[in-house]
Amino acid sequence: MADGLLFHLESPASDIAVITINDPQKGANILSRPALAELDGILSTLEKRTDLAGLIFRSTKPGNFIAGADLREFAADIDAPAEHIVEISRRGQQLFGRLAKAPFVTVAAIEGICVGGGAELSVWCDRRIMVANSETSFGFPEVKLGIFPGWGGTARTPRIVGLSNAVELITGGESIDAATAQAMGLIDDVTTEGGDALLAAAIRLVRNEQQTKEYLEDRCRSYAPIAISDTELGFLAATANAYIQGQTKGQYPAPIAALETLIGSAGVDVEAACELEAEGFAPLFGSTVNRALLNVFFLRDQNKKAMPAKGSPREVKSVSVIGAGTMGQGIAAANVKRGIPVALGDTTHEAVSRGVKGVLAEASYNKQLKGPDAAKAIELSPLVNGTMHDSELADVDLIIEAIYESEGAKQELYERLEPIIKAHSILATNTSTIPISDLAGPLVRPEQFCGLHFFNPVRMMPLVEVIRGRGTSDDTIATAVAYSRRIGKSPIVVNDGPGFLVNRVLLPYMNEALLLLQEGAPIKAIERAATAFGMPMGPLALYDTVGLDVALHAGGVMASAFPHRVVRSEILPAMVDAGRVGKKGPGGFFNYSGKRNDHGSDSPQAEAIIAPHRKDERKFSTGELIDRLILPMFLEATRVVEDGIAANVRDVDLALIYGIGFPPFHGGLFFWADTIGAEAIVKKLEPYETLGDRYLPTELLIRTAKAGKKFYDA
Ligand code: NAD
Repeated sequence: MADGLLFHLESPASDIAVITINDPQKGANILSRPALAELDGILSTLEKRTDLAGLIFRSTKPGNFIAGADLREFAADIDAPAEHIVEISRRGQQLFGRLAKAPFVTVAAIEGICVGGGAELSVWCDRRIMVANSETSFGFPEVKLGIFPGWGGTARTPRIVGLSNAVELITGGESIDAATAQAMGLIDDVTTEGGDALLAAAIRLVRNEQQTKEYLEDRCRSYAPIAISDTELGFLAATANAYIQGQTKGQYPAPIAALETLIGSAGVDVEAACELEAEGFAPLFGSTVNRALLNVFFLRDQNKKAMPAKGSPREVKSVSVIGAGTMGQGIAAANVKRGIPVALGDTTHEAVSRGVKGVLAEASYNKQLKGPDAAKAIELSPLVNGTMHDSELADVDLIIEAIYESEGAKQELYERLEPIIKAHSILATNTSTIPISDLAGPLVRPEQFCGLHFFNPVRMMPLVEVIRGRGTSDDTIATAVAYSRRIGKSPIVVNDGPGFLVNRVLLPYMNEALLLLQEGAPIKAIERAATAFGMPMGPLALYDTVGLDVALHAGGVMASAFPHRVVRSEILPAMVDAGRVGKKGPGGFFNYSGKRNDHGSDSPQAEAIIAPHRKDERKFSTGELIDRLILPMFLEATRVVEDGIAANVRDVDLALIYGIGFPPFHGGLFFWADTIGAEAIVKKLEPYETLGDRYLPTELLIRTAKAGKKFYDA
């Protein structure tokens, strides 16, 4: 076996070459430039051989065939001129293109994730086989980074699976499993086992192709223009365009650019299609959205690996969740899904049994069934122990308290439990507003206490704020971080303070919407401005989702913490007094039908409550409304960094993307500010400074503007 960087050449039979992909230095196989040079060398050697029947690519890295190109190399080239990018694209196309011209059959035997550049290498092969297991998938996620496949993916894929399938795969960016890949004709065979069984199947495929020579006919066919009539082409272009515009709301340009390239290159041969691909790819590379999405990729990647600098994590083998309500059920289900046994407690038998039912329904949810899977629920049921005995709730490695938001009730519970908790166990609270250090007051071991702030709905929101109280130890934080990851969440460590990180930054945005209502801005205009900026929903719809009563309480906490800059609106208490608490009640700023996916309709009732509080009536431009909503949020984010609540601007950016769905195409709140520039933000604030302290530039903003720096430089 010849040892290389990523590719290892083997020969299980004299006429079969196998390139085994496995980078021993990394967790994933990545197509870096040195790796591509290595492949170039191997192919040059093999192409000279006249005795080869076939070349097979396979991976021995568990769960990973090829995870794509090296994005750090991409980032290093981000400012390169377009000609350079076109050249990078051409080089990749030419290298992989040799797999479709080689003097032997080429086969990709796919086991594990095969995405991006790995998917492109595979489509250039004559044949593909996939393992049908949950770890194996195939996809082109490039559009999620603001680009599209540039190494021949758009030229080659439609010539294998047809244009319509290729449009779906490439513009959607979602990965598919072996069954879907087989149904669309992407792969030629499926195996149930990987490893040697997969290799044996690939060798059989080579032998079969050498007998039938069908691969040679397919080479001719897949070189030629795509057989599709102008009418079909026009119909596909129009329907796909409408669908993509609906999905991306014009905020993500890559899928439309990919569609245009796919449609535009249907009528030419594959070489000309490659040229069109390279030309279409270059303008996306280095675009604002590409930079923003690359930033989000790196933020995510960094978050997956980073551990707190100090402290050693302890293993969490068992958990109890106390409070079997909305949050408690979601948190318990996240544990059960990962095989961690949970004791679930509440104050009444009814609440406990309702909670256990909810946990099992959630943990056994089956996408295909669109509901709980009864057999799975039975299988998981031994993992949930509904109990009202303190002794059972205390006998675990981690206790998560998720009872209602009352300092007194929470402390009473801790005082009862602490004496019977195991010496090494951690007690954590899911409070959304009460400072951790205050809650820790009566505890004997505050070092083993922290915040574990999950977001609602737990199944959908990846973020967990791990909150360090004054007395929390490094080991407790390290354990909480490792545990959060184990249950599939993305932890961000923050320091204690009112609203912690996410709610502190979110509330000024939400509150400003109420102040805008008072100034006469229409509900619809406010909501439209927020979604035009890219927020997943408007601030008033968000009030309805969170619950206006809950928001009123949280707003009170913020107002007492920062009285000089929080201006309380009269609208929220008026709505709550009138019983309009949001979706959970009879409606809030909008009315709801109670049906799933109801986004709400205009509410004359809400308008009637708001009307007496409207002090003004004037026109607002969308730009002004966006400034009014986003700038207070941004200024609060700078204060969160200044106060040391968040470790740095990157943590704030990722927390907001994960916690409130801040639009990834902006790259994060600070990343967005950097694209505008600190000095320009100071200027933007000037017309609003008369509105109060909340619009005054902060130290961090002024310092960054004066130095002509970016927030990300810090
Ligand atoms: P909830 O009202 O749905 O559930 C609370 C549950 O705790 C109820 O079932 C109640 O019977 C039970 N309970 C009350 N006192 C108890 C006690 N002494 N012992 C055992 N059980 C007790 O509330 P929720 O929305 O799940 O919120 C729980 C916690 O999570 C609160 O601290 C809240 O601030 C926080 N939180 C809520 C959200 C959210 O969106 N709902 C988001 C993040 C954090």
